[in-house]
Amino acid sequence: MYNKFFYFRPMTKLYYTLSDIQTAIQQGETSVVALVEAYLDNIKTFGHLNAFNEVFADEALLLAQDVDLKIQQGTAGRLAGMVIAIKDNICYKGHQVTASSKILEGFTSIFSSTVVERLLAEDVIIIGRCNCDEFAMGGSNETSYLGPVKNFADETRVSGGSSGGSAVAVQAGMCHAALGTDTGGSVRQPAAFCGVIGLKPTYGRVSRYGLIAYASSFDQAGPITKSIEDAALLLEIISGADERDATVADLPVPAYSDDLNFTGKKRIAYISEALSSNGVDVQQKDLLNAYIERLRQEGHVVEPVSFDLMDYVVPTYYILTTAEASSNLARYDGVHYGYRSPNATDLESTYKRSRSEGFGKEVKRRIMLGTFVLSAGYYDAYYAKAQKIRRMIRDRTNDILNQYDFILIPTSPTPAFEIGEQIKDPVVRYLADIFTVQASLAGIPAISLPLGNNTEGLPLALQLLTKSFAESDLLKFSKYILELSKN
Ligand code: GLN
Repeated sequence: MYNKFFYFRPMTKLYYTLSDIQTAIQQGETSVVALVEAYLDNIKTFGHLNAFNEVFADEALLLAQDVDLKIQQGTAGRLAGMVIAIKDNICYKGHQVTASSKILEGFTSIFSSTVVERLLAEDVIIIGRCNCDEFAMGGSNETSYLGPVKNFADETRVSGGSSGGSAVAVQAGMCHAALGTDTGGSVRQPAAFCGVIGLKPTYGRVSRYGLIAYASSFDQAGPITKSIEDAALLLEIISGADERDATVADLPVPAYSDDLNFTGKKRIAYISEALSSNGVDVQQKDLLNAYIERLRQEGHVVEPVSFDLMDYVVPTYYILTTAEASSNLARYDGVHYGYRSPNATDLESTYKRSRSEGFGKEVKRRIMLGTFVLSAGYYDAYYAKAQKIRRMIRDRTNDILNQYDFILIPTSPTPAFEIGEQIKDPVVRYLADIFTVQASLAGIPAISLPLGNNTEGLPLALQLLTKSFAESDLLKFSKYILELSKN
């Protein structure tokens, strides 16, 4: 199943799961230092893909020595041997974090996010921070102040976004796994474009403390991996209550990685609009059809359902997220942190010039849109109405999930498109989020699974959605589908 984009340079043996790595270390076949060296080698070789905003090379090598020692002494954490990259909107104490924006250039985190703290406590090594769309606003990594990320499967194409650097870093073997954030698809869609797995947890499963906020009622951090085993393990470690984020559910975290065996027969709904729409690529539709058939042959019930609110998901998402973003990004004012315009002469010009010069075009567009939909005369017509429609989308989605175990839809209408192809038309770009924002509006978990390539060698993917906090079933079924795809 995995073809050209999983070829690595011959001297670099890379492993499929963390447990493969840990076995290889136990058998003396490799070491954490050797692995870090191999990733650094790939980061150098594929530097032109622009996946990293910064590589913590020396630090990663030093930490690798520590972890090797801990492994020998039997005191290592559960993630010993795992080298990850983090999206550059996740705070890591003492390291820069920029959200790929000029306005945060040179800013250093003064604390670590909860997700980073929990991963480090299990001896993960963070090898660098990855490029992304500016403030995670985009789906192609082209809004980054630091330039687009190129797809390793075809360098003329986008990585997807906004966690584009994180997805390419995993795709091209520059790290073992990565952490992205997903507001409306930013973990799932780049994973789909790059032939890797991307999981968005239930809203409230994972702490948002220390993530640079885009739209707080949507944002969730999630893993980008090559295997379900690693996605399950990472989710298990980052999930769970956190006194610093009141939106995290106080529910026990299942040991997702302990049992990934799927048994039984499931009921699966696919959204009929996804197959009838002209906007969906033919090979993407063929893939969906093939899996519908395949799952039926295996004895599952797979039925079409109509999701009559499909036309509303993108507008509702963009009204609500721009509203939240306009409020969240008010803090970048040239005074508190980040870029301050050298041309400012007084307080007002400090605000105006710093924000005008520090933010990119897309971020400014969204702040203006969000300010508009929240303004006194339009609040009821846009923001309040969008909240009501969000509720309808959530209820309707949950109705489907009361009758079916999973919803099966594409992750994206198309595979990775050409760099520059969509950037000029925001409406075209926003519409491309049609299949990922439903789960985000409903707050439910969703996963993108790599299921082969199209005739041009570009990765294709499908997405599975399920009920809130049913990640365990989602992971088991995902593993089963990936196994089906191999035979
Ligand atoms: N493409 C979507 C947007 O631009 C999703 C971004 C995200 O999930 N951070 O808002």
